[in-house]
Amino acid sequence: MGRLGISKYPSEIQSKCVDMYKKGFSLAECSEKLGPYPSIIRDWCIRAGILRTQKEGRLLQFEKGKGVGEDHYRWSGGKNVSKAGYVMLHVGHGKKNRAEHLVVAEKVLGRKLKKGECIHHIDGDKENNMNNNLLICDLSYHQCLHGKMSYLYMREHFKQNT
Ligand SMILES: [Zn+2]
Repeated sequence: MGRLGISKYPSEIQSKCVDMYKKGFSLAECSEKLGPYPSIIRDWCIRAGILRTQKEGRLLQFEKGKGVGEDHYRWSGGKNVSKAGYVMLHVGHGKKNRAEHLVVAEKVLGRKLKKGECIHHIDGDKENNMNNNLLICDLSYHQCLHGKMSYLYMREHFKQNT
């Protein structure tokens, strides 16, 4: 029948590929890890009824990009933004990316930040790293600020008649 491409692989490999794909890996990733061509894995996934549409695939890639660990970033208007919402800068090959607000603050200070020093975003926007939006403070003052902010927010948004 001329479809030996598919059947020459043991069913064990086949189910491994289908499993891996089901877990959210792309056809290319399954192919690289397990061997068979993406087109062959694609056929298996069609048979198993689990082939994703292109749109679903893209969505999944996007979710993965946002996802696990601090080294994965989502793309936000030309900036890398960490899971925690901070703009991350690439500072050189082999070096760990650094948060932009820390780099800006250290430049203004003219020294490295000390342990316990925090940078607060005055307008609450973690992507606004203009130096007039950054306040250097220690940890306890920072917590106090956020306490105050959430108190004001609560008072404004959930006013009670007391
Ligand atoms: Zn803050």
